[in-house]
Amino acid sequence: TTHKDCPADKDELGRATWKLLHSMSVYYPDQPSEEQKQKATAFMTSLSELYPCDFCAKDLRKDLKEEPPKVQSRQEFSQWMCRLHNKVNEKMGKPLFDCSKVFERWRDGWKDGSCDY
Ligand code: FAD
Repeated sequence: TTHKDCPADKDELGRATWKLLHSMSVYYPDQPSEEQKQKATAFMTSLSELYPCDFCAKDLRKDLKEEPPKVQSRQEFSQWMCRLHNKVNEKMGKPLFDCSKVFERWRDGWKDGSCDY
């Protein structure tokens, strides 16, 4: 049988987007330039206007208003991103993620070596 690629549904799009967002945040500079700070904030604002799930985008605009992106450092931005994701997790009744683990999950791999292959 031939394999066909299909359009992303809401969950697949969400997983792919979080992958990008968390990866971007854990590789964000420790000491960003003013331009990098502006671009990080603008990226999140654009996402909240253009994210192709209307009610997700609407809630994201509200979340960004409540706690605007914290972009002064890698640590700040990655923790802020984790809190943003946890707001969505909470809304959906999913377990919250332990934000002290974002660097293991998204940059360094788990301490037990389970990502070394
Ligand atoms: P996901 O929530 O996609 O998470 C992927 C992986 O990220 C997890 O397996 C875990 O390893 C890790 N992770 C989980 N939480 C965190 C965290 N806090 N910090 C760091 N890493 C974490 N869906 C809706 O139905 N309604 C919405 O309103 C909605 N809003 C969204 C808004 C945005 C900006 C995005 C990007 C997605 C949104 N989604 C929404 C999609 C939803 O968040 C999930 O992506 C989707 O439901 C798939 O969930 P999942 O359980 O596979 O894991």
